[in-house]
Amino acid sequence: MRNFQSTRILDVRVDKVTKIKALEEFSRMVKEPGCSLIVTPNAEIVSAASKTPRLKEIIEDAAMVIPDGIGLIYASKFKGDPIEEKVAGIDFSRAALEICAKEGIKVFFLGSKPGVAEKAAQNIMAEIPGLCVAGWRDGYFKPEQEDEVVAQINESGAEFLCVALGSPKQEIFVIDHKDKLKAKAAVGIGGSLDIWSGTLQRAPQFYIDHGLEWLYRMVQEPWRLKRLPALPMFLIKAAIRR
Ligand code: UDP
Repeated sequence: MRNFQSTRILDVRVDKVTKIKALEEFSRMVKEPGCSLIVTPNAEIVSAASKTPRLKEIIEDAAMVIPDGIGLIYASKFKGDPIEEKVAGIDFSRAALEICAKEGIKVFFLGSKPGVAEKAAQNIMAEIPGLCVAGWRDGYFKPEQEDEVVAQINESGAEFLCVALGSPKQEIFVIDHKDKLKAKAAVGIGGSLDIWSGTLQRAPQFYIDHGLEWLYRMVQEPWRLKRLPALPMFLIKAAIRR
């Protein structure tokens, strides 16, 4: 039983949770048995999920699907079933880390290029007093090393796992090892370790406040430009498809 409502965009589940609600749910999840997967899709990921049955199913079965992207907010409005606010995955995860610090919940950072997770851990522990990032590992391991990665996460004693392998790799990793993982909650955080480590800069507040963070990312990582033409089509399809 979920304590929040969902909408469907391109027939993919997106939860109508505000940041406060999402954090309340996180606090509940870390007290429950089993590993709850939190997904933070943007328009691009919802679009990919609508064409990829495995990803769509993972999102369907996730503990929570946070609306990370202004494209989803517009799509929900055009559809007549509005999502109240965009909840950036990076903001949710950072606030969840603050809860972990207060409640003594250990954290593991998995993903990004060698050195990035460690630097992100050092920076974020300096920013959030009391936070324990108990372990980290880069995201460039072979499929045959996955059991060893799971063992490292479990040995760290982490109950909150932040996975930065890009979508859908990060969600597939969690689902494939859900039964072995001792963490109570896991979230796919995309490029957040790159930002927390200082490898990439987040958009200035003006861009964030005006729903233009995607534009700033295009400027920083121009290879993303090739994905841009898909966005207007996403909005049209999302508005038409009920
Ligand atoms: N990444 C990784 N292992 C991989 C592929 C990607 O650790 O095999 C990391 C990459 O270094 C970066 C993040 O995943 O830190 C990519 O996140 P982003 O959200 O930018 O990717 P997207 O989902 O948009 O492709």
